[in-house]
This record gives sequence, C-alpha cells and structure tokens, in this order.
Amino acid sequence: MSRLSPVEAAASTRAYNFHSHTQFCDGKASMEEMAAAALGQGMEHYGFSPHSPIICPSGANMKADDLQAYFDEAARLRDLYGDKLEVYTGMEIDWLDADFGPHIDFFQKMPLDYSIGSVHFLRNREGEWVDIDGRPERFLRYLDEKFRGDLRGVVERYFEQELYMIERGGFTILGHCDKISRNASARDPQIESYGWYQALLADVVEACASRKLPVEINTRRAESEDRYFPRESVWRSLADRNVPLIVNSDAHEPEGISSGREKAFAALRRLDIKTP
Ligand SMILES: [Zn+2]
Ligand SMILES: [Zn+2]
Repeated sequence: MSRLSPVEAAASTRAYNFHSHTQFCDGKASMEEMAAAALGQGMEHYGFSPHSPIICPSGANMKADDLQAYFDEAARLRDLYGDKLEVYTGMEIDWLDADFGPHIDFFQKMPLDYSIGSVHFLRNREGEWVDIDGRPERFLRYLDEKFRGDLRGVVERYFEQELYMIERGGFTILGHCDKISRNASARDPQIESYGWYQALLADVVEACASRKLPVEINTRRAESEDRYFPRESVWRSLADRNVPLIVNSDAHEPEGISSGREKAFAALRRLDIKTP
C-alpha cells in the first residue's frame, strides 16, 4: 500500500479515520490502544490528531514539551503496523487569532502528515480566551459569566474566527465547522433556523468551496444526538462545489473510533453524494 493523503485515502476506502485523540491531550486511551482498536474495527488508514499545544490555559491541549514523545510514538506505531494499518501523524490545530493558528511557522515546520484546523476558543471583551467547546453546561455558564449572555455575538464571533482561519490556511481539513451549534442550541434550540445563522454557515461553505478546502463530517455526536458537524443540510452544497468531504469520528476512546461513521455514509448515500 502506498502512502496516501487523507483525501486520497478517503477516496479509496471507507475504512479510515483522521480525527482522534489520545493520552497526549484529552483522549481516554493511549495511542497504542487506539491503533490496536482501529485495526480491530477494520480501519486501513488511521490518523492521530492531538489538540495542538496552545498559548492560553487549557486542560484539553497537549503540552509543547510532549511533542517529541508524540512524534516518536507515532513513528513507532507506523513501523509496528506497517501495511496493516497506515498510521498518520496529524494534529488538530487551534486557531486563536492572526498570531496563533495553523498557518504560523511553529506548526508549519512540524513533521505532520496532515492537520485539522478548528476553533475552540474565543476571546471575550476582557481579553480572556474562553473555551467555547466542551460540555453545554459549562458553555452556558461561560456565556453568562464571560460573554454577558450575548449568544448571537458568540456565534457570530465563532464563524468570523473560522473564516479568518480558512483565509490564512495552512491546514489540510476543516474541523467540525459548525460545532458551536450544539452548545448554542442548549440556550436557544431554534438557533440554526435563523436567517442570520444560516448566512454565517453559508459564508463558511463558500469559503471552503472557493478554495476546495476538504471539510470533515464529524460524527462524534451522530449516534448520541443525531447531530453531525457540519449539519446535513449543507453537505449537498459542499459536494456540488467539489469540496472533498471526509467522515471523521473525533474519537476520544476506542469505542468512539467507528461511532456514527456508518450512519454518515448511509446519509451520504441517501443524498447521492460521493466522497470525496
Ligand atoms: Zn475539536
Ligand atoms: Zn477533536
């Protein structure tokens, strides 16, 4: 088996996953356990994507001091599995602002096979970086305590930052591009039906389409909440614009590696969308 890019791998088989976490960030299992489980679940291509080192306080991101250990372990597993399982050294890189994102030298110089660009942090008016990912209960508390309850402002800022990140580029796959919908809908279940919301998401679709930037269909919440990131309603317009769609489970534990993937492929079939 020759080494493929994530997009080539996704075009060749459904037995892939390029979004996963381990002991190096907020995953619940080691890289070794995740690779073994991936092979056991029939994967042929498996990418590790730890949350990148970051410059604001975060319990979810890997430490810069662990980078070498991560690269060493990925190389060891790549050799160990050889052709049985293609192991990829990736990273889910956080965008904070123009000074810190996938495009900066720090990440560009890393020996990565690919990277995912994701927005998890937004700066509030006081200049504090706030993790707007994670559990809805915490988001609702932060929304009131750190953003004065301004839900629309937070959602607008999320998509605005994502657009800046896409503009700067430097990453391979756009990560869970409307994930804010999950936490935002904990405050307003109608949020995704509003015209202003849909216009923001349409801007992201347009930005990806004009660059042919691969977009993941993140299935982490597909089984438990019947929710994909991005939502199913934009898959068609992405596919029609020739944006490669990559089905990723964002696994944080061995049981999550295949979670939601079959369901997503069935939905893609139903919509008559070929991936990528
Ligand atoms: Zn993420
Ligand atoms: Zn992730």
